[in-house]
Amino acid sequence: MRDVNELVSTVFSGLSPLVVQDVADEGERIRVRARTPDGSVACPGCGAQTTRVHGYHERSVADVPVDARRVLVVVRVRRLVCPTRGCRQTFREQLPGVLERYQRRTPRLTCQIGAVVRELAGRAGTRALSVLAMRLSRHTALRILLRLPLPQPPVPRLLGVDDFAFHRAAWPGSCSPGPAI
Ligand SMILES: [Zn+2]
Repeated sequence: MRDVNELVSTVFSGLSPLVVQDVADEGERIRVRARTPDGSVACPGCGAQTTRVHGYHERSVADVPVDARRVLVVVRVRRLVCPTRGCRQTFREQLPGVLERYQRRTPRLTCQIGAVVRELAGRAGTRALSVLAMRLSRHTALRILLRLPLPQPPVPRLLGVDDFAFHRAAWPGSCSPGPAI
């Protein structure tokens, strides 16, 4: 039998930047309690490293399902104090890739939801997501869909003079001005 901590880190490997403290079975949902590591963080104002804690707060984000059940991650995040005289600002530590600012889902969950709603818009998408233990309203599905980057148009291998003129006419703002004639 492997160590329980090792099993937790295997199942929740996407949360590896965090320290997982507890995993609770809440029936149809799994609640993971985690915190950020104790290491130093650079001040966004002056770049000085600091571990001085000003306070803590909690953030809750939904993560990709485990065992066909929803996963809620409750993370204790630090507010740190910059040690630089004259800067002294406090700031919340950021965890890009796991906790994005103002988002209630981890980026990888948003990515998976995006893949579904891109193929199945409207009710079909939300029905498919509920089977996959990703609960989502149609409004949220639409918002996620609209935030998705648009597919890049294919770039023609050879551009003729007419093509160039057409593109300039269509999107004048996206082209740099040509040489003066
Ligand atoms: Zn600073």
